[in-house]
Amino acid sequence: MEEIKTGDFVVPGDFLATAEEFVPGDGAYEEDSKIYSSCTGVVLVDVRTKHISVFSSALGPPALKSGDVVVGRVEDVRDQSANIYIGVLRGREDRELPLPNTGTIHVSQVHTSYVKEMHRQFKPGDIVRARVLNARRGPVQLSTASDDLGVIVAACSRCHTLLEREDSKLRCSECGNVEFRKLASDYRQGAL
Ligand SMILES: [Zn+2]
Repeated sequence: MEEIKTGDFVVPGDFLATAEEFVPGDGAYEEDSKIYSSCTGVVLVDVRTKHISVFSSALGPPALKSGDVVVGRVEDVRDQSANIYIGVLRGREDRELPLPNTGTIHVSQVHTSYVKEMHRQFKPGDIVRARVLNARRGPVQLSTASDDLGVIVAACSRCHTLLEREDSKLRCSECGNVEFRKLASDYRQGAL
């Protein structure tokens, strides 16, 4: 059985975890030392408090819509896509989403021009601003194909110092490493 993760969609009666590992929170109940979902919604696994909860869509976060601009962290980068952990929804008072949300940027949506090397555009840990293309099915489809979208904060992949912008590239003031990203026009200017 696959492990249930934050963001998974479940229906009533779905197995979430064993009672040895977790305590049932909102939207979950325990039966025979197993925890099940009592509603239809999205799982939140809190590894610190060991609670596993399900937020039903009625009580859930504001739904992302296409056109929304979000800020997230790059989790991993593959040949064709990058996975993004969405933390902040912009434009609606920049408030944080109550739940983490997962998004993905496909290689065709990185730039207005053709992109060959996904690993040259994003690296894990980068903070990116992106626009929602399609939020109807998870993971949320995102795009950075606009000047104001892309990486807004990036750290050196050798020494983790924040990188300084130098025209179209980034340079590490600590170790001199030069890196590339799909940058937002206001890279490291403090705005989300
Ligand atoms: Zn460095």
